[in-house]
Amino acid sequence: MNTIEQCSYMTHGAVMPFCKGCGHSNILKKLNDALGLLQIDPHDVCLVTDIGCIGLADALFDKVHTVHTTHGRSTGFATGIAVADKVLASGKLKTIVLIGDGGSMIGLLHIVNAALMNVDVTVIVANNFLFGMTGGQTSSLTPEHFNTITSPFGSMNPSLDICSIADASKAGFIARKTATDKDLTETISNAIAFNGFSIVEVLELCTEHGTKRNDIKGNMLVKMAEEEGHTVGQIKNSDSRAEFSKKYHTDVHAHKGEIKALKYINPAYEHTLKFPKEIIISGSAGERVQSTAAMFAEAALMCGLEVTQKNDNPVTQGSGFSLSEVIISPGEINFTGVSSADFVVAVSENGLKEIKAQDIFNRINEKTIFIIDESLNIEKKGLNIITLPLRRLCGGDKAAIGAVDYILMHYDILDHNAFKLLLEKRFGTYDKIFKEEFYKL
Ligand code: SF4
Repeated sequence: MNTIEQCSYMTHGAVMPFCKGCGHSNILKKLNDALGLLQIDPHDVCLVTDIGCIGLADALFDKVHTVHTTHGRSTGFATGIAVADKVLASGKLKTIVLIGDGGSMIGLLHIVNAALMNVDVTVIVANNFLFGMTGGQTSSLTPEHFNTITSPFGSMNPSLDICSIADASKAGFIARKTATDKDLTETISNAIAFNGFSIVEVLELCTEHGTKRNDIKGNMLVKMAEEEGHTVGQIKNSDSRAEFSKKYHTDVHAHKGEIKALKYINPAYEHTLKFPKEIIISGSAGERVQSTAAMFAEAALMCGLEVTQKNDNPVTQGSGFSLSEVIISPGEINFTGVSSADFVVAVSENGLKEIKAQDIFNRINEKTIFIIDESLNIEKKGLNIITLPLRRLCGGDKAAIGAVDYILMHYDILDHNAFKLLLEKRFGTYDKIFKEEFYKL
């Protein structure tokens, strides 16, 4: 283990936690030096890491912001951090990702997207050709014939050229260096200074798994990369593309007049609710189940109530069941799921099947009222069931609306006029939305 004697961005006296000879120590020292070269305020630096030995860097850089993320996702998080800073905050933050070759493969699309967006993020890929922390397994950056624990006779596949991927993703700054290159500090500092997406792949060796299984030394890395057809050195340095936030500001400005104002709901109606009410509405996809719930929720907001709505439907979206759980309350609601429904609505066979599948009969109480279409049958005994000709009088596409309208007509929950107003806005005169018989129910 080595002690860092002089450090400006690192924890004073930080001890490198890596195995002896591991290339990671060099990369972190050079990163520290690169930041020193740029003289960036440590508060304007955010290091984003994930799983893998290189992710241990967080603890070594106590002067800067650090974010430790899930395996391979550091570039995705960094993209969000960089965009948030540039669009909403100081705009000075330099966001740097430290990722291994394994992580860079897991999160390859995050790297591609960050490059396509041209966010101000620098990705340093510490490439030692294998997953070090988890035991030395092959990654997609493992060169052909390189031995790992999962390729004991040599990897059968050529390695992926991540710099070429970055190039195809329109990255402006691309470099491939080795951990012992004398100008690595300069390269990293140029990458960080670059106003847009930059990537530096650093070739290095894992002394725990790489050198034990391969007859290889640090001075052979360039040759090995070139044999794989990979260019080594500064590959690209072009600022021809605007950094993301510049484009963002220009585009938002250009479309400013088209952005719709937020819709505020002013409570213009009354309610007498003392306790929360919970309602489950179920039916078939495409029959306005969730939009009925949304209208009910909006009516509750118009009465000054707190509201939550939780929707559920199969992945197919347009077929099968559709179900919504709505809670309305005079006070704060801390959980969106219905735990003891006051009303359960089922307007189609699909909806009733889902109520059974989700075991909603275990989320009711002795006062729960079931409003079901006349075509349905609930065999369970002891339930308060109201059977109505909803589909016949309202049509399949408005059966759920009819059920909610019936509840508001007969139970004192909130001002029925609020719901009626929303119905009229959408469907025209209230008296003509359903068949005449419905209004006499
Ligand atoms: S396992 Fe490999 S990558 Fe991890 S610290 Fe040791 S030498 Fe470095």
